[in-house]
Amino acid sequence: MIHIERFQVNMISENCYVVSDETKECVIIDCGAYYEEERQAIVDYIRQNELTSKHLLATHGHVDHNFGNDTIYHEFQLRPEYNNRDEELMKDLKGQAKMLFNLDINNEYPAAANYLDDGDSVKFGNHEFRVITTPGHSAGGVCYYCKEENILFSGDTLFRGSIGRTDFIGGNQFLIIQSLRQLGQLPDETRIFPGHGQQTTMGNELATNPYMDR
Ligand SMILES: [Zn+2]
Repeated sequence: MIHIERFQVNMISENCYVVSDETKECVIIDCGAYYEEERQAIVDYIRQNELTSKHLLATHGHVDHNFGNDTIYHEFQLRPEYNNRDEELMKDLKGQAKMLFNLDINNEYPAAANYLDDGDSVKFGNHEFRVITTPGHSAGGVCYYCKEENILFSGDTLFRGSIGRTDFIGGNQFLIIQSLRQLGQLPDETRIFPGHGQQTTMGNELATNPYMDR
């Protein structure tokens, strides 16, 4: 039985997910927690539920998805895993914070634990996520798909009713359309957990999202 806990964090309401199963192992996806109480809420949730954190995954290298990586490193000794095409972004979280949010942050961010590429699998408990590379919003964007549970963590590639912007560094409108076409091959019943906003299903997006087609 998989459980997905969502934390809406930081100044632009990013979704951080803690995904656990019956073994009490968990993965943390996109720890964008910025404010102290947000960081603490995620740590408390993991501790109070006696979860063992196995992976810190990033769907991409934008700072709003990674503000809290230092907390996860300090509390659980996990360093982030992501696609290396976003390495430049991940190495400059402070620069992004300044440029995008005019924030001066002095946090020491951990380097990558591991780089993930298309088709790689990430295991925790009795479950497995497959990495699907979905460039377009950023060069190294990925989605995490769990086939047994039919769930997709879509980052900022696909939202309910919309898609991610392509006007940031590394963004590419042609590539995001190709990425969306690939995601559109997943079953209609696939539950989608995006990087911002509410969850949806692939069937719903194929029917109503103007950017999606098969
Ligand atoms: Zn983003």
